[in-house]
Amino acid sequence: MAAPRTASVALLVFTRDLRVADNPALAAAVAGSARVLPLFVVDTDGPLGPDPSGRTAFLLDSLRDLDTSLRERGGRLVVRSGPWADEVLRVASEVGAGRIHLADDPGGGARRLNLLVERASALRLPVFRHPGVTVVPPGTLTPSGGREYKVFGAYHRAWTAATWRPVLAGPDAVVLPGEASCAGFPDQPLDQVLDRLFGPPSDGSPLASSGVRRARRFAPGGEREGTRRLRSWAEEHLAEYAGVRDDLSADATSRISPYLSNGCLSARQVASGLLTAPGGEAFVRQLCWRDFFHQVLAARPDAVSADYRDRGHRWVTDGAATDAWREGRTGYPVVDAAMRQLAREGFMHNRARMIVASFLTKDLNVDWRLGAHHFLSLLVDADLAVNQLNWQWVAGTGTDNNPHRIFNPTVQGRRFDPDGAYVRRYVPELAEVRGAAVHDPDPDTRRRLGYPPPIVDHAEAIAAYRAQLAIADARALR
Ligand SMILES: Cc1cc2nc3c(=O)[nH]c(=O)nc-3n(C[C@H](O)[C@H](O)[C@H](O)COP(=O)(O)OP(=O)(O)OC[C@H]3O[C@@H](n4cnc5c(N)ncnc54)[C@H](O)[C@@H]3O)c2cc1C
Repeated sequence: MAAPRTASVALLVFTRDLRVADNPALAAAVAGSARVLPLFVVDTDGPLGPDPSGRTAFLLDSLRDLDTSLRERGGRLVVRSGPWADEVLRVASEVGAGRIHLADDPGGGARRLNLLVERASALRLPVFRHPGVTVVPPGTLTPSGGREYKVFGAYHRAWTAATWRPVLAGPDAVVLPGEASCAGFPDQPLDQVLDRLFGPPSDGSPLASSGVRRARRFAPGGEREGTRRLRSWAEEHLAEYAGVRDDLSADATSRISPYLSNGCLSARQVASGLLTAPGGEAFVRQLCWRDFFHQVLAARPDAVSADYRDRGHRWVTDGAATDAWREGRTGYPVVDAAMRQLAREGFMHNRARMIVASFLTKDLNVDWRLGAHHFLSLLVDADLAVNQLNWQWVAGTGTDNNPHRIFNPTVQGRRFDPDGAYVRRYVPELAEVRGAAVHDPDPDTRRRLGYPPPIVDHAEAIAAYRAQLAIADARALR
């Protein structure tokens, strides 16, 4: 039932900013209206099948944690499900909200946000979009004569020199709308609401099959857990970050990516919190890469699926080779270890992501979109802008200055896993092969241990790839 609309009530819609600290949308809602209804909408327009990535469990942890933080301040979190824009407007009408506040996400969330703004404007309901997903909002920094920075180095210089917005403290209090306005939002324990929404398929819930969706669980989600992990990682590893970030077996990177993807941590707050600490500069540079890809996708939303730079490349779709890549059976130990890490943990080391992406697109000449899609289906930290544009960077269709860069998987393995410990951790067939020899076992050892021969010869595959490129270049010159 609709309540009369009043400017003293704001609807605060959480999206990829599931936190109370340094949350500009939340701060603006609390400062601008006497009463605020915090809302999260589970979008039923998205894919609702089984979720092998563990993202659903991470999201539910994060929502519970957010509800706890809001309750400590006198508020609570309302969770609904439905087509996202419709549901936001329905709740706004039920509570009589005079304005809507939310975090802008011009990369990944652009389509549904634009739909909401369009519908709300027809109802003369103002929607305020705030920063909060990146350190510097996409579109703030632009090169002269262009919409987006196309080269990371130039963007990094502008980004470092820019004045970043102030970091905001979480609000002391969140005052909910009065009882009459909240009639449609009974105060139930959030777990009951989530159980109803994400219940087993048989209960007729709108998120059918989500019992399966949340079955896999890796890192626990939430602002508290993200803050704790970042703090303890920084104490132990930040100073050595630049030296060990590429070391596959050390596994010494922060693993905060899912907390950033869900906004449990504020990239802006993390950046200024660590920048001046020993090792901080190299670490914060990685956050700049994240911003860089977000500003590219905001300017070129088509780059989710279209080549950012069309080089006329003709990819193949070799089903059997792609399956071997997905399942970690390529016969290249470091590639197989990485693909099995992804399947087992919903995570893969950054160096390994580059090696397997290069192997798929250059050794197998398979379309980057197939690889990007597989990553999105399994990564807990899946982020549309960062994933698609990293894939394009490796495939040579994106922002890399050197689009013909090749990663030799055996050489990369020996260099970044010199003792072979990473491979042995994920490829048990090779557990008895000592040291760097694990990166290229001889045919007899492979046969004896039941490990497959390489599905392609790297040198031959790259020669074929280069010939293909020459044809594409000749076509482009015609
Ligand atoms: C093909 C490919 C696909 C990728 N897909 C994703 C994805 O879907 N989601 C995702 O968050 N990251 C993605 N990355 C980037 C990177 O691999 C992960 O962010 C990183 O491995 C996460 O581990 P960490 O938090 O320990 O990283 P750290 O080394 O501790 O870095 C800190 C943070 O910096 C950011 N960052 C680090 N490396 C990169 C990078 N290359 N590009 C952009 N941001 C970076 C991340 O937010 C990361 O959490 C992808 C990289 C490649 C090559």
